[in-house]
Amino acid sequence: MKAVALLSGGLDSVVSMLLARKEAEIKLAITVDYGQRARINEIKASQNICRIYGIKHEVIELPFMSKIHSDLLKQGSMPIANPWVPNRNGLFINLAACYAESLKAQLVICGFNREEAFNFPDNSEEYVESVNRALYYSTTNHVQVKSFVQDMDKIDIIRTAADMGLDFRYLWSCYQGGEKPCGKCSSCLRNIEAFMKAGIEYSEDFIC
Ligand SMILES: [Zn+2]
Repeated sequence: MKAVALLSGGLDSVVSMLLARKEAEIKLAITVDYGQRARINEIKASQNICRIYGIKHEVIELPFMSKIHSDLLKQGSMPIANPWVPNRNGLFINLAACYAESLKAQLVICGFNREEAFNFPDNSEEYVESVNRALYYSTTNHVQVKSFVQDMDKIDIIRTAADMGLDFRYLWSCYQGGEKPCGKCSSCLRNIEAFMKAGIEYSEDFIC
């Protein structure tokens, strides 16, 4: 089986992609630059992970997304009240499915998980099932999307990553840019709490 991975450079998408290698050959990993505040760090993190694990990587720019209203896309360091970006995951999955079909890959890998499915409907199993029904018709080779961390919460993902020997300092999960994670956004807060509960030391260091 061949696959295309959607990679943000954060914990969930990286661990999902690394787990997928057991059953699929990753033909390409894609990081999308949609004007998000953390884009520079997300791209660096994704490039470094792909270099370490020998996976081809590409950045796709979506400049039109600057016209979409979202706190995540407003430049500056003010707090992010709501990280929702209209139909972002729907758009990215379909984008990755274009690449997958053209590379004769059957799978799109994403980092959806149980914890975030609670807050974001487009991370849920129901959403994955629905989008897979649509992809069955919109791709000639019936591309399907799958998260290899779908049943895990953040603590499970951190423990799995630690078991794989992943160096967490290569990852970027913060919604903000900068040299270190902000420690205040909802993504940082989820991470810090999960590292504590997993009994693994949380580091602010970022190797870029
Ligand atoms: Zn943060």
